[in-house]
Amino acid sequence: MKICRTKKSLSALSDAWHQAGETVAIVPTMGYLHEGHLSLVRLAKKKARRVAVSVFVNPTQFGPNEDFERYPRDERHDFALLRAEGVDAVFAPAPEDMYAEDATVSLVESKLSKVLCGAFRPTHFAGVLTVVLKLFNVSRADVAVFGQKDAQQLAVIRRMVRDLDVPVEIVGAPLVREKDGLALSSRNTYLSAAERRRALSLHKALDAAEADYRAGKTDPAAATARIAKALAKSCDSVDYAEAVDADTLEPVKKLGPNTLLAVAAYVGKTRLIDNHLL
Ligand code: AMP
Repeated sequence: MKICRTKKSLSALSDAWHQAGETVAIVPTMGYLHEGHLSLVRLAKKKARRVAVSVFVNPTQFGPNEDFERYPRDERHDFALLRAEGVDAVFAPAPEDMYAEDATVSLVESKLSKVLCGAFRPTHFAGVLTVVLKLFNVSRADVAVFGQKDAQQLAVIRRMVRDLDVPVEIVGAPLVREKDGLALSSRNTYLSAAERRRALSLHKALDAAEADYRAGKTDPAAATARIAKALAKSCDSVDYAEAVDADTLEPVKKLGPNTLLAVAAYVGKTRLIDNHLL
């Protein structure tokens, strides 16, 4: 596994692969890898001959009072996991290499990124889109894999690729959970044992709403009210519980296929997100 610390080295590697007629996939991550990330890597290996994984805690997608400084990091462990998966290259640049000190251009999406998490994290998706476009450009990837865990991120990235004709195929990967249903997340490491038990309520509330839907209940207001009520009991605060179209992120009039039930809530100081795609 090649370890690329500079944009130049990753681009050179990808160029060589392409010259040899090989396709390239990129899996962008912020590290502290878990089975969710590794499922993306395995899917990427099916989609392209070569797989590069980026491990970069991107400062520009964190708000001023968010957890950039304390975001968990363990590069050695991450690299060992990626090596064991047979990844071809890991891209782990220093922030100074990633961004020019006086960078003045960033990418703003003006609709999908304003709702759900975007309403609470107003600069987050500009940071995400900018770094993701940079990763596409640097890696020259043919394919990029993103998790359904961050369903809004996936929708916003698909929109960017569509609207800017970015020559990359976006592949969405299913959300991976612990045995008890908790969505895997690097941020779960913040949770105490008691908080972790309360965190399970996100999945449980979504599960109950999905069961109602399967039993024929299709009113989105009733579904989201039920979810919000359950979360209010076990979480410390609820940012949102919504039923939206998974592509447009617009509220749905009726629950149906491609409806995304999405939640964000705090357990202690940890902000958690989860979703079920109906
Ligand atoms: P992150 O390191 O949190 O930025 O996540 C990197 C990529 O892994 C994103 O595309 C996430 O959606 C994806 N991911 C994170 N957690 C999960 C999970 N539990 N299941 C599937 N994909 C995930």
